[in-house]
Amino acid sequence: MAKIGLIGGMSWESTATYYQAINRHVRELRGGLHSAELVLESLDFSRIEPLQRRGAWQECASILSDAAVRLEAAGAEAVLLCTNTMHKVADEIEASISIPFLHIADVTAEEVLRRGASCVGLLGTRFTMEEAFYRERLRERFGLQVVCPCSEDQAIVHSIIYDELCVGEVLHASRQEYVRIIERLQDEGAEAVLLACTEIGLLVTQADTKVALIDTTIVHAQAAARFSVES
Ligand code: GLU
Repeated sequence: MAKIGLIGGMSWESTATYYQAINRHVRELRGGLHSAELVLESLDFSRIEPLQRRGAWQECASILSDAAVRLEAAGAEAVLLCTNTMHKVADEIEASISIPFLHIADVTAEEVLRRGASCVGLLGTRFTMEEAFYRERLRERFGLQVVCPCSEDQAIVHSIIYDELCVGEVLHASRQEYVRIIERLQDEGAEAVLLACTEIGLLVTQADTKVALIDTTIVHAQAAARFSVES
């Protein structure tokens, strides 16, 4: 099995989900006492978040690339960046290593196509919803149509991520807001909604709505488990 390198801590709440989901899927694929071989570079999110707010993406890129280089030196055979937002600097990270980088939007898009959908709703941080790096990758490389919440709803989705989910608060009222926004995306044509922030699955699951949900954390973690087992 190939050793997987994780860049986590953004936030650690969802990195914990990655650890569990990768191990669970390795066991599903291999059975018995099999578990994943992993190395984790867990960063202090309080160092990263102000850089995001200031738009200091070059600085983010160099911190994350350094982490990726350390993972490769520690024997990782592929790198996973455990956040959608920071894929804004995926190209820089990928260029700093010589092992595969499993891009979260690519494995998510493959899952969307596998399910036969072509128009998806996108929920994530303001950066992921507003900027081109994520949406355009889904459009250009996979031909997907992407629907985002209106700006008022984007602000709600964004602040629940940073003010609640990243600090371990999971509130019923926020779940209701998310479900309302998810159903609105369906009304606007989305055949499935992407939980494109790695913490959203802590708040909303498929049991909360009839709208098809695709949790990027689980899809990404399972892709890593498959990579490990098949390599
Ligand atoms: N984990 C989140 C994501 O998937 C948000 C935190 C961050 O900005 O990295 O986008």
